[in-house]
Amino acid sequence: AKQGGKDRVVFYKEDMEKNNLEHVQMANKLQFGIENEEFTLFYQPQFRLNTGEIIGMEALVRWIHPIEGFIAPIDFIPLAEETGQIYSLERWIVKKALQQKQQWEKTGFGHIELSINLSGKTVASDVDFHQLEMLVTTFDVDYSKIIIEITETAIISNIELVIERLNRLKNKGFKIALDDFGTGYSSLTYLKKLPIDIIKLDKSFINLIPQNNIDTLIIKHILSLAHDLKYEVVAEGIETKEQLEYLKKYYCKSGQGYLLSKPLSHEETSDLLDRLF
Ligand code: C2E
Ligand code: CA
Ligand code: CA
Ligand code: CA
Repeated sequence: AKQGGKDRVVFYKEDMEKNNLEHVQMANKLQFGIENEEFTLFYQPQFRLNTGEIIGMEALVRWIHPIEGFIAPIDFIPLAEETGQIYSLERWIVKKALQQKQQWEKTGFGHIELSINLSGKTVASDVDFHQLEMLVTTFDVDYSKIIIEITETAIISNIELVIERLNRLKNKGFKIALDDFGTGYSSLTYLKKLPIDIIKLDKSFINLIPQNNIDTLIIKHILSLAHDLKYEVVAEGIETKEQLEYLKKYYCKSGQGYLLSKPLSHEETSDLLDRLF
């Protein structure tokens, strides 16, 4: 990236790993979007499965482009990681999420946990991790009710450094969740080395319920081993009643998914909390 006139960062073809024009255009569009705050956070409720009570919300970023409309995270997060734009984007996301958390605490929803997805790139970068730590300390919120979600691949790619940083977050009170569990390579015993409190069972696992015996047997045993190792388990992508019943039967305590609730806008989230609590 190079400084264009007037502080504008402009991306050129030679900066990009995938040297194609579409990527370059997208990166520049994204840069404009970051500078003009074209983003918003949605919140997907997380439930205690046996009672149906809402215990938390996962913040999920959405890009609302003035012309193209809604752009899904899968179409810009990987690009932002590639270009390094993830740092400024993530600072915005974390700030917004913490403001929201602060708001909940002021309006009587302080018991609601907030999950924030963090890119492994941000955690592994000296400058950006430091900036993120600084940003976080400017907020007076209950850190023990904030969960940082990070994927296994993000940890493994820089394991010693990321472990040290996750420990720093834990020392501040944050909880750490391993996102998309089951899609990476590590075994549960190996995971014991990582400073993780929560395992999020990936939806590709949940999708398997209850199609065939072997798959569901694997899930059953992952759940039981995770419990023995004292992890909390959150199931993601619950779409059917069958999946929900199965997870409850094998003592999966919490979960999220379209069956229970889709991600909600800021307004929908406030309305829901107002109605419930
Ligand atoms: P994720 O962290 O695994 O988030 C769960 C994704 O599954 C979300 O997609 C959510 O809308 C979707 N989902 C929830 N319930 C169901 C269900 O029952 N069925 C199906 N098929 N999908 C469900 P979304 O919001 O499009 O986000 C996709 C990914 O983008 C996220 O996966 C996460 O890796 C990334 N992402 C989203 N927001 C952020 C963010 O603020 N920061 C970072 N670093 N990454 C983010
Ligand atoms: Ca997540
Ligand atoms: Ca996930
Ligand atoms: Ca995912």
